[in-house]
Amino acid sequence: MIEATELTKRYGGTTAVDGLTFRVRPGLVTGFLGPNGAGKTTTLRMMLGLDRPTAGEVRIDGAPYRRLRDPLRTVGALLDAGAVHPGRTALNHLRCLARSNRIPVRRVHEVIELTGLSGVADRRAGTFSLGMGQRLGIAAALLGDPAVLVLDEPVNGLDPEGVRWIRNLVRDLASQGRTVLMSSHLMGETALTVDRLVVIGRGRLLADTTMAEFVDRYADAGVRVRTPEPRRLRAVLDGAGIAVTDHADGSLSAATGPERIGELVAAHAVPVHEVTRNTASLEEAFMRLTADAVEYRAERRGGTERPGKTKQPGGAERPAAAGRRGEAERPAAGRRGEADQPGRGVR
Ligand code: ADP
Repeated sequence: MIEATELTKRYGGTTAVDGLTFRVRPGLVTGFLGPNGAGKTTTLRMMLGLDRPTAGEVRIDGAPYRRLRDPLRTVGALLDAGAVHPGRTALNHLRCLARSNRIPVRRVHEVIELTGLSGVADRRAGTFSLGMGQRLGIAAALLGDPAVLVLDEPVNGLDPEGVRWIRNLVRDLASQGRTVLMSSHLMGETALTVDRLVVIGRGRLLADTTMAEFVDRYADAGVRVRTPEPRRLRAVLDGAGIAVTDHADGSLSAATGPERIGELVAAHAVPVHEVTRNTASLEEAFMRLTADAVEYRAERRGGTERPGKTKQPGGAERPAAAGRRGEAERPAAGRRGEADQPGRGVR
């Protein structure tokens, strides 16, 4: 369990985190969402004892990080996957971590296996791709077999196979009863993975809810239906008073939830090959919910940005250079494009 209470962080005149109160429960994957600059990293840093709150507190399994007796065995974190000595092999990096935390070396081999790094364990971390670096970061987070996991943008820069791997891994970790918090600035991707959402903007809490409630409350709960008999389906939906849009591939979008579709097609015996919740509307809901925060940040920006990584709408990273964060923070069409891809439905 992670509990933030009135958590606040100010840097000079900037309030990065503003009175945040939320809980992250065990046995679930919780997404920590907000546009770039919302205060996610600052919150996670306070969670992990890397920054001191200006006010309020955040506890992990009942205690602030600094007071945990065995931090690595209590909470595993992926914060900056690049923070590994480039000259060290993956194996050595994990061995050093294990040794300094009194974790048996046998566990090093377990996490190497678990994260699919067996083939590259003797390679120096400096030669790793972004995806392999993420896996190494996750191996380190899992080393102490912790009950709580905090992952900052774990799918950043991963290829589709890596993204799928992370998704399965975090779901698996949660099903073992662990508390999993993963941050992201991408709604579409997060929607496929998480049970609950904590959404922040401008350092403030915007939503703390289940994925299902979020969809019901903020998205037009539209679905896309693929059927070999679109005309019959349209007639059934028209008859039920549900707004329908046709697509070029013969599928239909309907302004209702998958439950209602299921009931109607069963009652009228219409064959259906696929029902997908419309993630584009989910992405739009996220954009709507966080729009004020984004505009505020865009106005306020004046070149005082902290150096560091720049998060791109596509999930890749590039080094921060000429104030590009602003670009990434606008509700860009690019994000919608990603959410529009087929097969990106919500459970
Ligand atoms: P996110 O992770 O959601 O993108 P951050 O936590 O990185 O957001 O940043 C929140 C706000 O706090 C931003 O305005 C950022 O520029 C500011 N900020 C974060 N860390 C520092 C710091 N060390 N010094 C000054 N400002 C900071």
